[in-house]
Amino acid sequence: MHETLNSATALALRYLDTLDEAPVALRENVETLRARLSKALADPGLPPEQVIAELVRDVEGGILASSGGRFFAWVIGGVLPAALAADWLTSTWDQNSAIVASGSAAALVEETAGEWLKDLLGLPREASFALVTGCQMAHITCLTVARRALLASRGWDVEQQGLSGSPAVRVIGGEQRHGSIDRGLRFLGFGSSNVAYIPWDWLEATLGREPDRPTIVILQAGEINTGVFDAFEELIPLAKRYGAWVHVDGAFGLWAAASPKYRHLTKGVAAADSWATDGHKFLQVPFDCGYAFVADAEAHRATTSYRAPYLTHDSAVREAFDWTPEWSRRARGFPTYAALRQLGRQGVAELVERCCDYTRALVEGIGALPGVEVLCEPTLNQGLVSFGDGRTDQVIAAICKDGEVYFGGTTWRGRRAMRVCVCNWRTTSRDV
Ligand SMILES: *Cc1c(COP(=O)(O)O)cnc(C)c1O
Repeated sequence: MHETLNSATALALRYLDTLDEAPVALRENVETLRARLSKALADPGLPPEQVIAELVRDVEGGILASSGGRFFAWVIGGVLPAALAADWLTSTWDQNSAIVASGSAAALVEETAGEWLKDLLGLPREASFALVTGCQMAHITCLTVARRALLASRGWDVEQQGLSGSPAVRVIGGEQRHGSIDRGLRFLGFGSSNVAYIPWDWLEATLGREPDRPTIVILQAGEINTGVFDAFEELIPLAKRYGAWVHVDGAFGLWAAASPKYRHLTKGVAAADSWATDGHKFLQVPFDCGYAFVADAEAHRATTSYRAPYLTHDSAVREAFDWTPEWSRRARGFPTYAALRQLGRQGVAELVERCCDYTRALVEGIGALPGVEVLCEPTLNQGLVSFGDGRTDQVIAAICKDGEVYFGGTTWRGRRAMRVCVCNWRTTSRDV
C-alpha cells in the first residue's frame, strides 16, 4: 500500500507542479490514447504500483488542464489544496455516508457544512439540504419534492397513486435556462407538453391562463452564457400569488450571495421553495459535488427518506439518507467542509470577486483588440466576445491548439461567440 500511495502522491504533485506552465489543451488524439488504454483484460492481475505507473503514462496528453489557472471555457472550477487533500482522505477512509452508523464523523461534517452553505448563500436557516453529485441531481432532488408537494396539495398522493391520471403539473421556465432543467424534467416524467419556456414578462399572463393548475416556476441565478440573474424580487412573489413552487438553478450564480459586492444580484432569492447549486464550480471542491436545498424541510424529508430493517436510524444526528436520492454514497461532505474552512467567509467572497474581476479584465482586454466585438459584458464571471461570424470558431480553435490558454464557444442570440469564464482559485493576474 505505502509504495503505491507514495508513488501516486509523487505523480500527483508532479502534475500539480507543471499545471501553471503546461499547455492546457488535450495534446494527444483519441486513437493514440485508445491504442494505449484499451488493453485486453488480462487473467492475472498486476502489482498496484505498476497499474498506477502505467495509468499515468498511458493518459499522458489526454488530461485537460481544466483545474489550472488558464482554463476559461465552460464553468468548471479547480481544486483547493484543503479540498483535494480531504478528497484523498475521503477515498482513504472510504466511508459509506448513507447513514450515521456507517460513519458518524462523515455525518457530522456534512451536517455542519450544510449549515455553513445556507448561511453563505443567504438561504433560510430552516431549509433542508442534500449533498449530491452535482447541480443536475440537485434539480432532480428538488423537483421530486416539488412534484410530490404540489400533487399532495391537490389531494393526490403520488407515491400511492402514481403519476398516471394525476393532475398534470405545469412547469414554467425561462427561455435561457440550462439544459439540466430540460433533462431533469424529462427524467421526472413531467411531459414536454406541460412545460412552457417563456420570456419572463409573460409570466403573469401565463399563470393567469390556468390559475388553479399545480405549477413549478424555474428561475435562474447566473445564465450559462451571460451570467445574468432573473428578477427574483419581482418574479417569486408573483409566482407565489398563484401558489406555484419556485425552484432556482443557481449552479454558480448563487455564490454571488457570498460576496458583499455581488449579493444584490440574488436579492429576493431566499423566498423561493428550492435551490440547486454546485460545490465543484465556485467552491473549488473536486468532482462530484452539488447541493440541493428545500425551504419546506418536512416536504423534502417525506419525499426522500426511507426506512429499511437492516439500517439503523439516528435521531440525534442528521441522517444523509433522509435527504438524498442515493443509497450508498461517497462522504462528499469532507471536501466541502475543508474548502469552507480553508477559505472562510472572507475567502469565498474574495474568490468570487477575483473571478469576476478577471473575467471583466479578459473581456475588456480582448474587446480592445481590432476586429473584436464584445457581445456581452460580464454580470458575474461570464462574458461573450465575437471575432466576426465565421471567424470566431477558427480563433477559438487556434487558441486552444496553441494550448497557452483555453476558451470555448457558444451560440448566443443566433451569433457564434467565444465564452470567457474565470472560475478557478489558481488564476492569477499574470494568467489573465
Ligand atoms: C453547470 C451547470 C448546471 C449543471 O450542473 P452539474 O453540476 O454539471 O450537474 C446547471 N445549471 C447551470 C447554470 C450550470 O452552470
